[in-house]
Amino acid sequence: MDDEPERTKRWEGGYERTWEILKEDESGSLKATIEDILFKMRHLYVVIDGSRTMEDQDLKPNRLTCTLKLLEYFVEEYFDQNPISQVIISAEVFYLFAGNPKKHIVALKKAVDMNCQGEPSLYNSLNLAMQTLKHMPGHTSREVLIVFSSLTTCDPANIYELIKSLKAMKIRVSVIGLSAEVRVCTVLTRETGGTYHVILDESHYKELLMHHVSPPPASSSSECSLIRMGFPQHTIASLSDQDAKPSFSMAQLENNSEPCLTLDGYFCPQCRAKYSELPVECKICGLTLVSAPHLARSYHHLFPLDAFQEIPLEEYQGERYCQGCQAEFKDQSVFVCKMCKNAFCVECDMFVHDSLHCCPGCIHEHPTPASV
Ligand SMILES: [Zn+2]
Ligand SMILES: [Zn+2]
Ligand SMILES: [Zn+2]
Repeated sequence: MDDEPERTKRWEGGYERTWEILKEDESGSLKATIEDILFKMRHLYVVIDGSRTMEDQDLKPNRLTCTLKLLEYFVEEYFDQNPISQVIISAEVFYLFAGNPKKHIVALKKAVDMNCQGEPSLYNSLNLAMQTLKHMPGHTSREVLIVFSSLTTCDPANIYELIKSLKAMKIRVSVIGLSAEVRVCTVLTRETGGTYHVILDESHYKELLMHHVSPPPASSSSECSLIRMGFPQHTIASLSDQDAKPSFSMAQLENNSEPCLTLDGYFCPQCRAKYSELPVECKICGLTLVSAPHLARSYHHLFPLDAFQEIPLEEYQGERYCQGCQAEFKDQSVFVCKMCKNAFCVECDMFVHDSLHCCPGCIHEHPTPASV
């Protein structure tokens, strides 16, 4: 079952120069790499077992509370690394579909009071996941992650038929078991190309969950197409404007959350539908709406920022202050951007290259960066 090779921990691997993976094929095109990156648009459907066994206390304080705590952490990490993706978390009493980690965390906190009872049904959860994921565009990944606590499942129909349909729709199902290996999960994950692991303890559980933060390898069979994207700006209609009318956002209407009329929002450039947050796929016209920083964070591998030049502090003639954090230079060396010649401290250099992926000095000089 444990067929994945023992991997070194990410933090043991040191600084990963992810852009070095970027390769051109014989014709000098970046196509293959871009296909890989497009697959980073993920749709992940997380199913949590809500059955009686979630109250077992082999994880502290019990399986449910431990699961929800780990999922909070998972959701934050997931959106950090997959900013233009979506997660759906589903369990007996709550159901959530958003591109916004804050909403998930609020719902996960509430779910601690969930009443665990009865038998779980793998069939029903998978069926629900399939109904949702089959509408997701074919160039993105369709994944289901099941946290399965029980040793039994109560299925209203033949689950093996359902597994065939999942496979046909290229939905990849992975399972994290909290008890012991269950045969149907082995078949399910093997047939759909997912992974199946049973946890040993809480830290192993966390590790298994974190494997799902990075996207699965793109299968060559995933559809590739040009994707039209919209970049709506956040606009606020001013009250002095005669035409300004408050309106509902699409997400509020969809979620049945208390609808409220607002003047501000992101408007789809194609059909003018309003959304309160990004990224989102327009419910009306299907256009993918993202913000430019979301895209830059997903695509930075294609346009890497050159390493800054390390210069010993004694030799450096320019400003005595870091252009990132404004602190006085104290370390042995400063890091200078080759383009804008601004100097940064070692912490800012790391932050710029690991998280920001663009030089603040260059952006200040050229407010519309050439790359993404
Ligand atoms: Zn639209
Ligand atoms: Zn600094
Ligand atoms: Zn620069």
